[in-house]
Amino acid sequence: MIEKIKELLERYSEKNDKYFKLRKEMVEIQLRERGITNEKVLEAFLAVPRHIFVPESRRSFAYDDTPLPLFEGQTISQPYMVALMVELLEPDEKKHILEVGTGSGYQTAILALLSKQVYTVERYESLSEYAKEKLKELSIDNVVFHVGDGSEGWMDFAPYDGIIVSAGAPDVPEPYLEQLNPGGIIVIPIGDRFYQDLVKVIKTEKGIKKEYHGPCVFVPLIGKYGFKD
Ligand code: SAH
Repeated sequence: MIEKIKELLERYSEKNDKYFKLRKEMVEIQLRERGITNEKVLEAFLAVPRHIFVPESRRSFAYDDTPLPLFEGQTISQPYMVALMVELLEPDEKKHILEVGTGSGYQTAILALLSKQVYTVERYESLSEYAKEKLKELSIDNVVFHVGDGSEGWMDFAPYDGIIVSAGAPDVPEPYLEQLNPGGIIVIPIGDRFYQDLVKVIKTEKGIKKEYHGPCVFVPLIGKYGFKD
């Protein structure tokens, strides 16, 4: 989907998109200066028009250094947090990725540009439909949407090369380890309902390896292997 990045960079270029300058500043100041180094990831963030994922009343804040309210009480994650998680996932053009917590679809779009295929699960049908519409608007077509409890993963298309979770969980849901290829990576916030640590889990032949990447705040993962509703 790297050609897709080029296509979007043209469609939402400095000439065509009044938000281009703000988006460029977001990439340079919020992402690169804070330590995001993967050039492909940085390019994807420049290519995806974040403002179209933000509810109309908040569009002028779309490129601010902050999470933004969505609906159903959910939020669009802060750009830096999305970038950090995506970088830790080590996406590439060959990988099949499971995303849990579609939300607005912003991260879904970024992932789609950097991987072979994205499978994304969301609890709320309204959000899943919203995200589907946005990706259609960008002509991104390597994403499969599903409404359900993503704390159980998604058996239908397993095994995955990577699993990325945009909601906080009490621990790594067991089904994720079963649905992951050897060498696969899970990026997931782990903690309580209000405060988590960003954890990268690597599935190796000898077992699992965990790396901790700092504190974060996500809405809770609600479901069988998450928190109670
Ligand atoms: N990356 C998204 C973040 C959305 S917030 C964005 O930037 O827009 C997290 C999302 O996880 C919410 O939409 C919430 O409804 C969803 N969620 C919570 N528990 C879930 C579960 N068990 N399965 C699927 N989605 C879940």
